[in-house]
Amino acid sequence: MKKKVKQQISGFSEIEQEIRILRKQAPDRSVEKGQVSRIIERLHPRKLNLAVSEIREETASAKTFRLVSGDHYLPPFLAGQYINLFLDVNGIRTSRPYSISSSPGQTAYYDITLRRVKNGFFSNYLMDEVKTGDGFQSTSPAGYFHHNPLFHGKDLVFLAGGSGITPFMSMIREVTDKGMDRRIHLIYGSQQEDDIIFSQELSERASRHVNLSVTHVITAPSSSYAGHTGFITGEVIRSALGNQGLTEKMFYLCGPEAMYGFVLSNLEKLGVPKRRIRIEIFGPPADITAHPGWPEQITKADRFQIRLKNGRVFEAAAGEPLMNSLERNNITLETSCRSGVCSLCRTKLLSGKVFHPAGAQIRKSDRKYGYIHPCMAYPLEDLELLI
Ligand SMILES: Cc1cc2nc3c(=O)[nH]c(=O)nc-3n(C[C@H](O)[C@H](O)[C@H](O)COP(=O)(O)OP(=O)(O)OC[C@H]3O[C@@H](n4cnc5c(N)ncnc54)[C@H](O)[C@@H]3O)c2cc1C
Repeated sequence: MKKKVKQQISGFSEIEQEIRILRKQAPDRSVEKGQVSRIIERLHPRKLNLAVSEIREETASAKTFRLVSGDHYLPPFLAGQYINLFLDVNGIRTSRPYSISSSPGQTAYYDITLRRVKNGFFSNYLMDEVKTGDGFQSTSPAGYFHHNPLFHGKDLVFLAGGSGITPFMSMIREVTDKGMDRRIHLIYGSQQEDDIIFSQELSERASRHVNLSVTHVITAPSSSYAGHTGFITGEVIRSALGNQGLTEKMFYLCGPEAMYGFVLSNLEKLGVPKRRIRIEIFGPPADITAHPGWPEQITKADRFQIRLKNGRVFEAAAGEPLMNSLERNNITLETSCRSGVCSLCRTKLLSGKVFHPAGAQIRKSDRKYGYIHPCMAYPLEDLELLI
């Protein structure tokens, strides 16, 4: 019966015939078994052993860590990609992603540049405790926030806020060092003038390369500051870029979560189509309860029970990503982006309800079959997980 049905499919017998010939005539691929996976493993190892070779102070609250390989090899990356660093912080095995700020043309090291987050668990540890010579593990470079020559064109607008400058710095360094045929307009929002990361290098590169322009926007300027102030508004964008061709440019947006809604609505007012905007979200929202869609009756401090397959039960606060609570209880999941995108931490939810903020890219099939991304999932009820 099955065979009869297959015969009805147009082209079935021709394909069957081809498979028969291939089986007889084609080279024996089993001889090369493992070769491809060996090349992939070399190009994209799952884990890298890194050591800090240099630490540079960029501003009072930002530092660059130069990381070299402990294995004599760093995989290539695309400007805009990140690595996820693993560390034991106060006895908890955890990780945070950081965009590579150096150029992909530099194959001897990755630079990461981070800003201290107030009461931040990981950033403060890195800023205060990590010293030259210290070693740790990371994932291979990953992420989709990079230029795509087929679809993005050559006229690029980078909208950066605070530490969100890092993926752009990698792209700017690559384009200007290699003399690539691309035009870059950077519009960079910082709190105060002395918070601007890479300030001197940006102005030097802009003065040497006609295809790079830099516009700063300062939220809390000093009395002598004469440039743009406030936030990155449509007006600032228009005054930096002019009115012409706005809808043909490619806009990239990276910075604190609070910046997205504001800048996106301004881009929309300027008529920039969604397909011309690329976004990198730098981790979980500062206050999830302020996020659209969060149920009013649940507060940050509410706690719910998390039950695992082996019967173990512990508590998790509603106001923080579930992954933090898992790690605090010695459960380390595979993870790379910690922003609901890479889906490495995908976990089956057996019962209960979680909140995924907009920006977490949960697939339709995940929703249908009850999978959550704990790095961007907040418990709203007691949960039972297949872990
Ligand atoms: C792809 C990507 C690239 C990034 N690149 C950079 C970069 O180049 N430079 C840079 O400085 N940063 C970067 N980040 C951000 C970085 O990964 C960290 O999120 C940042 O350093 C803060 O980490 P932290 O542990 O200090 O803060 P956390 O302690 O993790 O706090 C950050 C947020 O997590 C939530 N949270 C965590 N713990 C709790 C808790 N106990 N209770 C309530 N809420 C909690 C809160 O919403 C808080 O605002 C990037 C993030 C992503 C996703």
